[in-house]
Amino acid sequence: MEFSSKLLEKAVNEMAQLPGIGKRTALRLVLHLLKQPEEQTQYLAQALTTMREEIKFCKSCHNISDVALCEICSNPLRNNKVICVVEDIRDVMAIENTGQFKGIYHVLGGKISPVDGIGPSQLHIASLVEKVKAGGIEELIFALSSTMEGDTTNFYIFRQIKDCEVKTSAIARGIAVGDELEYADEVTLGRSILNRIPFEHSMKNL
Ligand SMILES: [Zn+2]
Repeated sequence: MEFSSKLLEKAVNEMAQLPGIGKRTALRLVLHLLKQPEEQTQYLAQALTTMREEIKFCKSCHNISDVALCEICSNPLRNNKVICVVEDIRDVMAIENTGQFKGIYHVLGGKISPVDGIGPSQLHIASLVEKVKAGGIEELIFALSSTMEGDTTNFYIFRQIKDCEVKTSAIARGIAVGDELEYADEVTLGRSILNRIPFEHSMKNL
């Protein structure tokens, strides 16, 4: 792609770093911004910079939050003895949208994936295991996507806490293998949470 301006080229290259954005789309977005009033670009840049600088993660569940303890963890109406283990904030959003879950979450920040060089220590697994070992947790619900990495991660956590007095379950695999939670429709996902199955039954393929 030949550019008539170095400034334009730089903006397009930066935009094209984002996932799912090729150079052509990046160019379209940048040209769109150029056609809009200058403030729009400033608001966008400001929102991104402020988000990056000020964003916090909940000290308990590691969800993205504007305060130290997120709204879900600090809500007295939520059952903090039932923890749903998820990969990232998109899963929390998807499950919250179903309105069917009244417990709290633990956001791992990814899945164990040796191919991508992601081991257990890079995820928020230790703090989860600690929480369970400290006692008082009644149930852990594994809600990672039904992929090999998801299963590996579930099983890794399960092995660490299997001697603890905690019930373990998995969301029913009504969701087809390979589907990500965020794409599951809310009714299916809501039903999966209500009809969760004992964790051991979900792992018979291992
Ligand atoms: Zn939290």
